[in-house]
Amino acid sequence: MSGFEYVRSNGIQETLNILAKEKEDSVLVAGATNVMNDIRSRKLQNKILVDISNIGELSGITQEDGMIRIGALTTVADIAKSALLCKQAPALYQAAQVFADPSTCNYATIGGNIAHACPAADTAPPLLALDAEVEIAKKGNIRTLHINNFFLGFYSNQLDDDELIVAIRFKPQRCSAFEKIGLRSAMSIALLSVAVAVEIDQQEKVRTCAIALGAAAPRPVRASHAEAVMIGSKPTPELYAKMAEALCEDIAPNPKSARASKLYREVVGGSLLEKVFKNAIGSAIE
Ligand SMILES: Cc1cc2nc3c(=O)[nH]c(=O)nc-3n(C[C@H](O)[C@H](O)[C@H](O)COP(=O)(O)OP(=O)(O)OC[C@H]3O[C@@H](n4cnc5c(N)ncnc54)[C@H](O)[C@@H]3O)c2cc1C
Repeated sequence: MSGFEYVRSNGIQETLNILAKEKEDSVLVAGATNVMNDIRSRKLQNKILVDISNIGELSGITQEDGMIRIGALTTVADIAKSALLCKQAPALYQAAQVFADPSTCNYATIGGNIAHACPAADTAPPLLALDAEVEIAKKGNIRTLHINNFFLGFYSNQLDDDELIVAIRFKPQRCSAFEKIGLRSAMSIALLSVAVAVEIDQQEKVRTCAIALGAAAPRPVRASHAEAVMIGSKPTPELYAKMAEALCEDIAPNPKSARASKLYREVVGGSLLEKVFKNAIGSAIE
């Protein structure tokens, strides 16, 4: 094959059949915000572009059996205006508010954002903090992968060439929050981002706590050292200081990262995490 071929798929089964046949010769195209860049930069060449943007059943935000389910083709713009997510998953809702410019948000999908596996992907830390599961289909099979096992490394994930992300699911988590630091206050790729989901017990101690980071390592990660400091204790200024210290163990960016140093991320990370943690607790009180 020379150049590109274009195929528009109108259904999940049709897509899975094409992927099963063409495997590594094919590339899924959802909102195309990353794919177009890859074509322009010639990172992608000689592929069959399988356009899935028309598949209605891959789109939408629903709540069923105690879980929130977001179809892979749901756009960031849809997430940014979802009243359900605003209330039940504020971390993801807040990430969508600071995502790119409005026209990019109208095309960018949540499935494409995680499949691209950029370490700074804005939906990744909220989904990690919310303990999300990814529904993945291939011809004749469907599997579920915890989001923490989905990201493999720098721009790399667990998807096989013949697999399609169908949806992302998680339990509602009102006490969650997200924030990112970029070179501008909004619409920029994160230099560091933090998402927190927390449960506080009646003694005001942290019962459960999930902290996730973007742009802090070659892949989006959970901050297990910082989490361990908080679980079982009542948040105090001293505890927040210990959490910030522990966070340094969780920050391990590529030493060649030109966008910000490890030291910069450690210094701003502690105060950013404290702010996001307090916002997450605050959303329980509202
Ligand atoms: C101007 C600009 C600003 C941006 N700003 C941000 C930002 O602020 N924050 C941020 O996180 N990102 C940002 N991005 C990156 C990009 O917009 C997001 O990663 C977006 O969510 C990708 O979604 P998409 O639907 O456009 O994916 P596409 O470009 O269509 O696809 C991306 C990759 O995912 C694969 N893919 C897509 N859907 C599926 C699926 N259902 N199953 C399996 N694989 C799939 C494709 O094959 C491709 O490899 C920006 C990009 C641009 C161009």
